[in-house]
Amino acid sequence: MLHPCLRCGACCATFRVAFHWLETIAHPTTEDTQAVPVEWTQKLDPHRVAMRGTDCPEPRCELLQGSIGDHAWCGIYEQRPSPCRDLKPSFEDGKTHSPQCDKARHRHGLTPLTAADFATDSKVEA
Ligand code: SF4
Ligand code: SF4
Repeated sequence: MLHPCLRCGACCATFRVAFHWLETIAHPTTEDTQAVPVEWTQKLDPHRVAMRGTDCPEPRCELLQGSIGDHAWCGIYEQRPSPCRDLKPSFEDGKTHSPQCDKARHRHGLTPLTAADFATDSKVEA
């Protein structure tokens, strides 16, 4: 069974994904294997960048692959920024509700997740 996020992708097309530029490979001490590729970001202010495609009224991160609500995945999963890592799907741990997840799914016509959407063999890697 696919992890529910791999059948969704809604949060990648709902919010502005903004974070400190130190998370990008523009910072010389950042490990390239984990940092966000700077070419997929745009500058917001002297300290912050946003994932390209997310700083607009109808956001969709340019790295979101596939079709929302069907089969979707992140094009830089291992290098995604902290806001993406921090946004957890509702009830992934069986008990914790995520308002951001529910809001994103609602925006794209998807029902909120429940604990039943998770199986022990679910994997999030694309
Ligand atoms: S966190 Fe929620 S909105 Fe984001 S991809 Fe997963 S299920 Fe969809
Ligand atoms: S970087 Fe990946 S996880 Fe983050 S918004 Fe873009 S596609 Fe989604």
